[in-house]
Amino acid sequence: MFRKVLIANRGEIAIRILRACREMGIAAVAVYSDADRASLHVRLAAEAWPIGPAPSRESYLRIDKLIDVARRSGCDALHPGYGFLAENAALARACAENKITFIGPSPEAMEKLGSKTAARHVARSAGVPMVPGTLEPLAEATQAAAFARDAGYPVLLKAVAGGGGKGMRRVESEAEMPAAWRDASSEALNSFGDGRLYIEKYLHRPRHIEIQIFADHHGNTLYLGERECSVQRRHQKVIEEAPSPVVDPALRQAMGEAAVRLARAGGYTNAGTLEFLVDVHRNFFFLEMNTRLQVEHPVTEMITGLDLVKLQLRVAAGEPLPLGQQDVALRGHAIECRIYAEDPDNNFFPSPGKILSRRVPAGPGIRLDDGVYPGWVVPTDYDPLLGKLIAWGTDRNEAIARLRRALEEYSVGGIKTNVGLFRRILADPDYVRGEIYTRWLDDWLARSSPSAGPSQLPESIETVAVLAAALFHLSSNGLGQGPSSAPAAPGVSASPWKREARRAAVWRDPRE
Ligand code: ADP
Repeated sequence: MFRKVLIANRGEIAIRILRACREMGIAAVAVYSDADRASLHVRLAAEAWPIGPAPSRESYLRIDKLIDVARRSGCDALHPGYGFLAENAALARACAENKITFIGPSPEAMEKLGSKTAARHVARSAGVPMVPGTLEPLAEATQAAAFARDAGYPVLLKAVAGGGGKGMRRVESEAEMPAAWRDASSEALNSFGDGRLYIEKYLHRPRHIEIQIFADHHGNTLYLGERECSVQRRHQKVIEEAPSPVVDPALRQAMGEAAVRLARAGGYTNAGTLEFLVDVHRNFFFLEMNTRLQVEHPVTEMITGLDLVKLQLRVAAGEPLPLGQQDVALRGHAIECRIYAEDPDNNFFPSPGKILSRRVPAGPGIRLDDGVYPGWVVPTDYDPLLGKLIAWGTDRNEAIARLRRALEEYSVGGIKTNVGLFRRILADPDYVRGEIYTRWLDDWLARSSPSAGPSQLPESIETVAVLAAALFHLSSNGLGQGPSSAPAAPGVSASPWKREARRAAVWRDPRE
């Protein structure tokens, strides 16, 4: 087993990995940017090294700095977490060159399966059904239009290098194609430095259902059931659960075996996820592979009783998987909410700032994987994910009831979060019946009108509070004599970041 593991990430996932290392008696090294000096992952680590300024390009995305810290601190393995460099073959190669074990697949497998169009080739060779579309990137919009004429509209233009829903455009008709092509391609170029696009038939009301696989270096590959991730906002997962309400044992086996075939065909090792879309007739189509640990891995852990991070470490160290397919038993139901510092009543605007108070849920079936504490300032530089709240129940209804109860217990003061939104989603009859599809939440949000209703109340109260504070300030100091900005009313964030961002003509959600 490893002596010491470098955790090349931050926030809740760095803590998740740290916990696994600690339970296994393996030393771990945290890294941090200037913005993360006081972050919980640094506080919990016995050893932590600075890796540069706040922008991730100068810290968490710097392979040279990570390798340098790993060498100088005597690490013999590196865990990339998710995001940042987790799917970067160059990091995996740099690790190999420096005799550091990368806890993940080989760089070759990552390239073969991590690229969307390359993975589609592997899927075809492995006989795995995929969404009808092109296997190669397209040269120009006219090629996309030609495909769409045959396949029928709507179609979806997608970035070859895509991720996080970026560089993706739904096209309804031939007239829309040239503009959609230009938009998708320039967004892809800006986001990934690669503007190449391919095209898929746009499926009607699909579900996003993914299979967790695990492969060791001894030829064993198994699947650990599915996760349903159909509750998405703008193609981004918001709530995930396992098992899926629509997957029966036969479909699970068919999807699981297809996933294993694909992983084997790509020479894959360690933890991986194969994402599928499932249509209304329960046909499944391969979408893409994520060659890393997923954000939503805890729901699989809750129903399988396995610790996926420990398994990752064991497999990377060369141990065989401790179980076979016949030993994988699914028990109960788990649901996860991604808790963000953001304001659902204000177009999901990020809400960084100081956490003034925090009450965390506990009790039967509740797990909270987060990386925050009262007094800590949520930085403006990264994805504003605070953590994940997960509930387990003997069945789906109990998991929902426990999650609702836990969301009532959970409170964070000082910043806005999406906790209230989860309370409303989990009370929705469609959600409770499991009648969800990938655009379900977008449709649901569009229905809950932004012009009226209880969801707008906090925003109006905030506005009134700001006006009252400003008036009070002016009347006590006289016009133009006091400090340049009005004091913040209680509960009103006065973050200069937020003000600046609001002033900017267009705010771009970092996850879009
Ligand atoms: P990304 O890597 O950018 O996240 P994915 O290929 O994983 O892109 O797709 C993300 C989401 O976009 C899916 O979960 C689904 O909601 C939607 N989507 C992708 N492809 C299709 C398609 N062909 N038809 C309908 N929806 C799709």
